[in-house]
Amino acid sequence: SSHTAASVLAVELFEAVDRMLTQAESALGDLDAIAGDGDHGIGMARGARAAAQAARRRAESGSGIGAVTLAAGEAWAEEAGGTSGALWGAAICAVSSTLLRSADLSSATAVQAVDAALAAMQSLGKAEPGDKTMVDSFVPFAVTLRQEMAAGKTLEHAWQAAAAAATSAAAATAELRPNLGRARPLAERSLGHPDPGAVSLAMIASTIGENIKK
Ligand code: ADP
Ligand code: MG
Ligand code: MG
Repeated sequence: SSHTAASVLAVELFEAVDRMLTQAESALGDLDAIAGDGDHGIGMARGARAAAQAARRRAESGSGIGAVTLAAGEAWAEEAGGTSGALWGAAICAVSSTLLRSADLSSATAVQAVDAALAAMQSLGKAEPGDKTMVDSFVPFAVTLRQEMAAGKTLEHAWQAAAAAATSAAAATAELRPNLGRARPLAERSLGHPDPGAVSLAMIASTIGENIKK
């Protein structure tokens, strides 16, 4: 059924993100070591690995995409550790709530799921744009996705434009001073370097964009 096809796509996306973050682990750790504690790569790779494994297990037991995504979000939150682990876990669980409530898997559902993820992240972390966090790349991602969909683009093209906006915004965080999180006490050191969480979010958005081409 299409239900099963959607679950398989979700598993494929989590596995693609897992592979990408495993590759990026040391670079993200180095970025976090500049003004943070250096564990962003380890945490993200661990979270993505746990999420991909949980998603696969749940899909193999015949669950739909909502339940598969919920299992992934819970596993990410439990295994990743760190501030980013809690925030990504909450964001993925918010995506699953949208999917569980939706009758169909339309492009509109994808836009709603992205908005729910951003809202969950901001509700938990209280970061606003300009605080030098992952929210700085997530907001332009969500805004661009909505605009491109409203302009009649396919989800694939809208997603890729949104991922490009997130990538530019992540690079632009180099000019910001961190107002939140572990990097705040070493804010001066962080100047000139992008925020690790903003960078990893843009990388995840790009990886998903490359894998929703259908
Ligand atoms: P920790 O800071 O606990 O070691 P990580 O190193 O994995 O966790 O993640 C650091 C990233 O988390 C930062 O680069 C930033 O993007 C993000 N972050 C930190 N605090 C917040 C917050 N309150 N809201 C949103 N993102 C945050
Ligand atoms: Mg850290
Ligand atoms: Mg840490």
